[in-house]
Amino acid sequence: MILRNPATEEVIHEFRHATVDDVDTAVAKAKAAGPAWRAMAPADRARLMRRFADKVAEHVDELALLETQNMGMPIGSARWCANAVSDVLHYFAGAVEKHTGSSIPVAGGIDVTFHEPLGVVGLITPWNFPMLMASWKIGPALAAGNTAVLKPAEITPLSTVRIGELALEAGIPDGVLNVVVGPGSTVGWRLVEHPDVRKVAFTGSTAVGKRLMQGCADQVKRLTLELGGKSANIVFADADLEKAAAAAPGAVFDNSGQDCCARSRVLVQRSAYDRFMELFIDAAKAFTVGDPMDPATAMGPLVTADHLARVKKYTDGLDTVFTGEVPSGPGYWHPVMIAAPDYADPICHEEVFGPVVVVIPFDDEADAIRICNDSDYGLSGSVWTQDGSKAIRVVRAMEAGTLSVNSNSSVRYSTPFGGFKQSGLGREHSMHVLDHYTELKNVFFAT
Ligand code: NAP
Ligand code: MG
Repeated sequence: MILRNPATEEVIHEFRHATVDDVDTAVAKAKAAGPAWRAMAPADRARLMRRFADKVAEHVDELALLETQNMGMPIGSARWCANAVSDVLHYFAGAVEKHTGSSIPVAGGIDVTFHEPLGVVGLITPWNFPMLMASWKIGPALAAGNTAVLKPAEITPLSTVRIGELALEAGIPDGVLNVVVGPGSTVGWRLVEHPDVRKVAFTGSTAVGKRLMQGCADQVKRLTLELGGKSANIVFADADLEKAAAAAPGAVFDNSGQDCCARSRVLVQRSAYDRFMELFIDAAKAFTVGDPMDPATAMGPLVTADHLARVKKYTDGLDTVFTGEVPSGPGYWHPVMIAAPDYADPICHEEVFGPVVVVIPFDDEADAIRICNDSDYGLSGSVWTQDGSKAIRVVRAMEAGTLSVNSNSSVRYSTPFGGFKQSGLGREHSMHVLDHYTELKNVFFAT
């Protein structure tokens, strides 16, 4: 497999794919490491995870550089991600001793619950935030006492492989965290099929997520899914339009729109539509696209030539109200685009995963909610209004799992993250995710 820097098209790395046999070896190592990891005193497991988190923090520059060269993420964002990986691992180190069971009043004895680790878990991650998505799964998997085999997307494995090495350098025992790099259809699928893998945690496309769900059915294998989105950014006429417009480009163009939480549908109340559009275009003009190694760059290239071609299928010939500039020369560049197409156009409904946003007018609160929920997806979304009661009514009516008011932020490791409808199954982050990495056991003791 050959990896190219998407900003320069230069070859940066070449490697041999893992095979299905390699996956079996990794699963066997994870299984062998399980009993000791599970039996370790919780304080010791937490201490090792903190060391791992600190190791990552010591290597932020190196990890960020790998991410930028491998997938084109601007270096400032890549540094933010590397620091976030460390924070996530620290959070779950702290969770080791806090995921407590309960005692339940019963007649004739006592009744207690235990959160038991599942065993070996298979973790499958996408290419858009490679190391960050890895940490979201490694953290809770290991904290809960499981051992893991992690398969990153084969086009962006470099930062994840390094994180695997850092785990070993930090003293996480051999076999607790294993990384296998190869295609999803063989190496990833083996984790779905392998009888010793007790759960699959997946982040990726809805299409692949559905296939995994079918694959897991055979063994009633535990499965969590973080899938695609077409999230709505709802701007009411009574909002602070300047603030909403200033934040809107970053909410969809960050990471070149390759973000499951991208607010790729902006819904604007008709009476504020023209004013908002003017402000939005101005803000998009200031959103610099270029060399991801330049700290002033807001947006880099798309991840691969293939993905660029996929995005262009949606945007070639699209009638836009604004199209930005891209660098000349090599690189998988796509300009930022704002469009106001006919509502029936597929671009208003399908996840493009590129730097293009559609702006859709609405009449009133009910209309905004109707348009927002007219989607198979339901991952994230925003509401901009200065009317607090309206904000509460609207967020409660939105069919999506991860929402914000007068902000477009989506992710905090201490708060639950995930989707409604075809955006996923289960939640990541917060103490809630630990329920997805453990079995709840109930024991009655007769007295
Ligand atoms: P993808 O094609 O679904 O791939 C995701 C991962 O699954 C990759 O590691 C891939 O391996 C693997 N895979 C593919 N086919 C498989 C199979 N049959 N069995 C097992 N594993 C398989 O998604 P992507 O193109 O990498 O990522 C983009 C998608 O991810 C978008 O839809 C986006 O919305 C979603 N996403 C969601 C979240 C969230 O938290 N909800 C976060 C980020 C991204 P290879 O690529 O190596 O073949
Ligand atoms: Mg793919």
